[in-house]
Amino acid sequence: MMQDAHIHLQDSGAEADKILTSAKARRVGMFFCNGTSTDDWPKVKSLADSCDGVVPFFGIHPWSADRAVNGWDDILVKYLSDPKACIGEIGLDKAKKNVDFEKQREIFTRQLDIAIELRRPFAVHCVQAWDTLVEEIRRRTDKNICFMVHWFSGSPETAAELIKLGAYISFSPRLIYERALKHRESFSATPINKVLLETDYPYLPDAIARNTQDAEKYFEWLGALYGIAARLKNMETEAFEDKVWENGTIFLH
Ligand SMILES: [Zn+2]
Repeated sequence: MMQDAHIHLQDSGAEADKILTSAKARRVGMFFCNGTSTDDWPKVKSLADSCDGVVPFFGIHPWSADRAVNGWDDILVKYLSDPKACIGEIGLDKAKKNVDFEKQREIFTRQLDIAIELRRPFAVHCVQAWDTLVEEIRRRTDKNICFMVHWFSGSPETAAELIKLGAYISFSPRLIYERALKHRESFSATPINKVLLETDYPYLPDAIARNTQDAEKYFEWLGALYGIAARLKNMETEAFEDKVWENGTIFLH
């Protein structure tokens, strides 16, 4: 059975229903469904409430940091009254120049503190801000931290540093492409007990996905990603799937 460690089903329109209806038959048993602002949390919650395999993550995405409504943190805490709820997608993105980085950092660290206080795993988006990410998490490492870095794009050294701080590393369909050398290098360097795989559906880059809004294509990409990843780890696909599944169960705290 496969799991998708990072997806936005709430943004997938009619395809979300198709994906969830055929998930079991396509051997996908778990979806970590990430919110990005208070606007989409109700949809994430209703998807999780209506489907066992959907694990809800509520968070303010760094791209939405400057649009966070007053009292967003109180709203977040209310959503976290669901014991299976995690925090995400949260993070830091220096490539997103039109959202002030200090504002991103403020919103991110507040969510980190809530995650630690309420003992919830969290999902991180990080682009070109690895030093700040490591610094903020390291500051809190005496606490029990469990998190994943989604669509990991950093170096093998950064992955190793994050793993030491408690991270799981989630790899994207970029791994399918042989020219994605850096992704493959970081993937090879990540121990199997720290690997997760994801699609970020429906936000696959155009180069990878020409027809993003398509449930059939979704299952093809996820299957191809697992197939390539198993091969890169020199494992039988089934044994590999079992191992990744087990890694993901940590987030079912
Ligand atoms: Zn995402």
